[in-house]
Amino acid sequence: MVDSVRVPPGRFGEELKPVIADALQAKLEGRVDRDLGVYVAVTDVYRIGEGKIVPGDGGVYYEVEFDAVSFLPEVNEMSEGEIVEIVEFGAFVGVGPLDALLHVSQIADEYISYDEKQSRLVGKEGGIALSEGDAVRTRIVTVSLNERNPRESKIGMTMRQPALGKVEEVYRSEKMAERRAEYLRLMEEERAAEEAAKAEAEEARAAERVECLECGELYKQITGSHLSTHDMTVEEYREKHGEDVALRAVA
Ligand SMILES: [Zn+2]
Repeated sequence: MVDSVRVPPGRFGEELKPVIADALQAKLEGRVDRDLGVYVAVTDVYRIGEGKIVPGDGGVYYEVEFDAVSFLPEVNEMSEGEIVEIVEFGAFVGVGPLDALLHVSQIADEYISYDEKQSRLVGKEGGIALSEGDAVRTRIVTVSLNERNPRESKIGMTMRQPALGKVEEVYRSEKMAERRAEYLRLMEEERAAEEAAKAEAEEARAAERVECLECGELYKQITGSHLSTHDMTVEEYREKHGEDVALRAVA
C-alpha cells in the first residue's frame, strides 16, 4: 500500500522507520476501505520516499510503501465472537475490530425478550439466554462498510441456522450428536455380534445333529424309541438306509 504520512517536528531526531510506522498506524487505525475492510495494523514499512516540507506546516511529509493487515467481513462468513453489549433490540458481537449486530429477530426461533435488570436477552421458551461475555457462533448476513464514517459501518448477523448458537451449546449439541452416533454404533456392533454368535451356535448345533432319514428331523442320536415312531427298529433303519448310516452325531 502507498500513502503519505506526516512526521511531527517533535520526533525529528528519532529513527525514521518506527516513527513513520507509528504515524501510519495512528492515521489508518479504524479506517475503512470498501475492498480491504478495516485496517487493523501496519506490519511493515518497506520504502520511505524523500521528505517534503509544506509551507506553514512544521512537519515533514513522506510518501511510504507499507504492508498492513485489515479485516474484511464477508456475507455468509461464519464467525465466532464474544457478546460485548446487550441492548433491547439485540446483542453486539465483536468480530475483528468491529462490533456486529445480532438483532433480536435473528437469535432463535422463539420469541426473545429483553431482561433489563440482568442485561440479558431471554427466549420465551427457555431455549436460550444471552449475556455479555457469552461466545456465539454466527453467520454474517449483511455488510455495509462506510468509508467516510467508519463508525457507521454495519455488520448484521444471524444465529438462526444449524450449527449456530452459543458456543458452549453448539459444542454441547455437537458432542451429544457424536455421543448418540457412538452409542448407535456400539448398539449396532453389539447386535451384529449377537447375531453372529447365534448363527455360530446354530451351525455348531447343526454339526452335532444327525438327520433322521425317515422324517428329516435333526437329533443328537437316532434312538430305537424314535425309530419306533416310524414303526421301525434300528436294524430295519440300517437295512433300509445302509449299514453305515449315521445314528449318532459326530461332535
Ligand atoms: Zn424320524
